[in-house]
Amino acid sequence: MRSAYKLVFERSLPGRKGYDLPKLDVPEKDVIPASCKKTAPVKLPELAEVDMVRHFVGLSRRNYGVDNGFYPLGSCTMKYNPKINEEIATLFENLHPYADASCTQGAVDVMLMIDEALAKITGFPAFTLQPAAGAHGEYTGLTLIKAYHDNRKDYERTVIVVPDAAHGTNPASAALAGFKIREIASAPDGGVDLEALRAAMGPDVAGLMLTNPNTLGIFDHNILEITKIVHDAGGLCYYDGANFNAVMGVARPGDMGFDVLHLNVHKTFSTPHGGGGPGCGAVGCTAELAQFLPIPVVVRDGEHGRLEYDRPLSVGKVKAFYGNFSVMLKTLAYIESMGGVGITEGAQNAVLNANYVMGMLRGVYDLPHDRICMHECVVTPTEEMIEKGVHTSDIAKGLIDYGVHPPTIYFPLIVHEAMMIEPTETESRETLDAFVQAMKEIAQIALSDPEAMHKMPLTTPVGRPDEVAAARNPIVRHQW
Ligand SMILES: *Cc1c(COP(=O)(O)O)cnc(C)c1O
Repeated sequence: MRSAYKLVFERSLPGRKGYDLPKLDVPEKDVIPASCKKTAPVKLPELAEVDMVRHFVGLSRRNYGVDNGFYPLGSCTMKYNPKINEEIATLFENLHPYADASCTQGAVDVMLMIDEALAKITGFPAFTLQPAAGAHGEYTGLTLIKAYHDNRKDYERTVIVVPDAAHGTNPASAALAGFKIREIASAPDGGVDLEALRAAMGPDVAGLMLTNPNTLGIFDHNILEITKIVHDAGGLCYYDGANFNAVMGVARPGDMGFDVLHLNVHKTFSTPHGGGGPGCGAVGCTAELAQFLPIPVVVRDGEHGRLEYDRPLSVGKVKAFYGNFSVMLKTLAYIESMGGVGITEGAQNAVLNANYVMGMLRGVYDLPHDRICMHECVVTPTEEMIEKGVHTSDIAKGLIDYGVHPPTIYFPLIVHEAMMIEPTETESRETLDAFVQAMKEIAQIALSDPEAMHKMPLTTPVGRPDEVAAARNPIVRHQW
């Protein structure tokens, strides 16, 4: 009910309180200098405990997450996060990063186990778990590429080639790492345009950043040719592993000719993410690039792991201590409980689910790239819907009334009115059918009563915020 929504400040009444302190039983002393004292009382909401609890519990119930419903947010892999991961993460909750090495061997071994598991899954021999997110991993990986060229005194290589289907973080990370960006257009089939790639090569190219499968959910079958073109021109190949859920246990970026990658382990290996973290953007690389990895690098020493600091060519540290350790524990719990076969099946079911949804929506919505997809598919409103004034944002808003988190919209940028749907492997046939049914009902409303679409959602406290104003002039505190 919209009318019931009140800010905590609007619930406030003078004199209400949620505490009950004992009377002062010592002499009162005024020791704070006047210059440090406030001249007026701090404006805080005044509420009874019960009102406060209801306020926050109410807010938490309005929060939508994968634990309360379907969340097909393309490119974000909002799969269910098994609760055993959380339990495992608490095992180390008392460990302090400054603890003596004699107390932390287990934690170092955990990092070694993850490094070695990721090495098996990706085909890269060396890893760092320091980066705190995918974008941070991109930045770290690109600094390895920079260190590689610098170490060879090849200072002219200042350009990173990025396809136009790339996630926005790719060019942003490359710029932050000190590179210039050269964008290339995608081929009509959604893959890399080989001619455009060849034309973009030159002695100034440091490398290529590629997501495979890409943000259209398409696996690029020319991948070996692509990485060869870049290598022949003296560049290195960076694999954005955000879409790794499509190929984990099936194909390895190391075998596709890449030199360095990041994995969004918070996406692929099921740790809660969104809203800013914490995450882990593990970076893997070839043996040749391993000398540049951030220190300390975890190396195997007989039965155990050891933190190695002696790496003269290391790019240095990219994060305090070792990275987000609780995310690592959840990752390991996931990998160990799934096992090799389970990981492969996870990818296969993710792909199956995306193709099922795409197939069920064919004819109801348009499919700009109507071919077998990987773990996500891109659909758009039909021309008739657009003519009636119903756009992707209206469909996304409509889905909220059906209890579904909207898919990623208006991305990838190269598809007009894109809706990018990633169901993940953890959703049942029944959940997918309910989603398809909602999408079909919305399509009917779009054609028969387009005006109704512009009023959705009707079930949320705020329906249609002015998104531009919210971004440009955010009001982030209560105005008294
Ligand atoms: C999510 C994502 C990223 C960025 O990862 P974060 O962990 O959010 O920083 C990069 N590339 C692609 C394709 C993504 O989907």
